[in-house]
Amino acid sequence: MSISGYPDAVNELIELLKGLPGVGRRSAERMALAMLDWNPDKLDALGSVLKELPGRVGFCPECGHLSEKDHLCGICASASRDHSTICVVEDPSQVINIEKSALFRGVYHVLGGKLAPLEGKTPENLNIEKLKERVAGGKIREMVLAFSSDVEGRATAIYLAGLFSGSNVKITRLASGLPAGSNISFADPETIAAAFSGRTNV
Ligand SMILES: [Zn+2]
Repeated sequence: MSISGYPDAVNELIELLKGLPGVGRRSAERMALAMLDWNPDKLDALGSVLKELPGRVGFCPECGHLSEKDHLCGICASASRDHSTICVVEDPSQVINIEKSALFRGVYHVLGGKLAPLEGKTPENLNIEKLKERVAGGKIREMVLAFSSDVEGRATAIYLAGLFSGSNVKITRLASGLPAGSNISFADPETIAAAFSGRTNV
C-alpha cells in the first residue's frame, strides 16, 4: 500500500493508463477502479488482447495501413476496390475516417506522417519508396493527396506533386471543404464526402 491509498498494483495500472492520449490522473483512477469490478475472465481477456497486440497487428506491405500481421489489409485485398485510384494519407486513423464516409472506392497509401524536417520527418523516413514502386507498377491512374491543410500537410502535398509530376498519374487534392489546420482523422463523413467529390487537379 503506497501513500496514495491504492495498493501497488492499482497504482501501476493508473500510471500505465495515464500514458494514453486524453487520459489524465482522475480518468485513469476511474478506469482502474472500474476494472477492479470486472470478473477475472474479463480481466484475463483484456490481458490476452494486450499481450497479443504486437504479434497480431502489423502494417500492410502494400499500402502501410494497419493489418493483420503479415497480411494485406482488407482494402488492398479487396477485388471490389478501384486499384487504379490511390488516396495518400498521413496515418491509419485517416483511412479509418475516410472509410466511414463510404464514398471513396479506391485504395490508400499511408505515409506514416508528413514532412516536418525540424521533427526529423524527411522523405527518407516516410513510406515514399513504396509509393514510387506502386506508381512505377503502371496501374495507378489517379493519386488523391488527402493531407490536413496545415503547413506540414501542404508541404507534403507539394513535395509529392513535384515527385510524380513527370509520371502519367493524374494528381488531385481534396476540395478545400476542410477547415484550415483541420485533420481528416476528425472531419465528419459529410465533409469528407464533399471534399472527395470536389477534388481538383494539382
Ligand atoms: Zn493495404
